[in-house]
Parts: sequence; structure tokens; C-alpha cells
Amino acid sequence: MAEHRKHQMGDGGQCVCPKCGKTTPHRDGVRCQDERCPECRAKMLREGSEHHQLFLQKQAQKQTE
Ligand SMILES: [Zn+2]
Repeated sequence: MAEHRKHQMGDGGQCVCPKCGKTTPHRDGVRCQDERCPECRAKMLREGSEHHQLFLQKQAQKQTE
């Protein structure tokens, strides 16, 4: 039986550190928010997630003010 496993590179996504911008590959079954940045120990965000979008919006607001 040939099983077609989809290796969707990019679809698994990445976790991104809101503090230093470090990215790590998202691990299956582990939420980014449960991960810690290897650089600065901050809670990670799922790249492209709602939380990440909100974070980016806040960043943009800070820069324009
Ligand atoms: Zn970091």
C-alpha cells in the first residue's frame, strides 16, 4: 500500500520569538506558546497565527507613533 504522506514544507510553519525575532521549526503536537526561545527564553508565537498578526500590528503601531 503506497501511502502518500504530504510533506508540506512551510505548512507546518514556524515559531517566532516576539522579542528577538528568532524562528524555530514548529513541532507537531507542541504549541509554539509552550515553546521557549532558545536565545532569550521568551514565549514563542506561531508564525502567521492570530497572535502573531496581533503582535505585528502592535509593532507597526509602535513604530508609527
Ligand atoms: Zn528570543
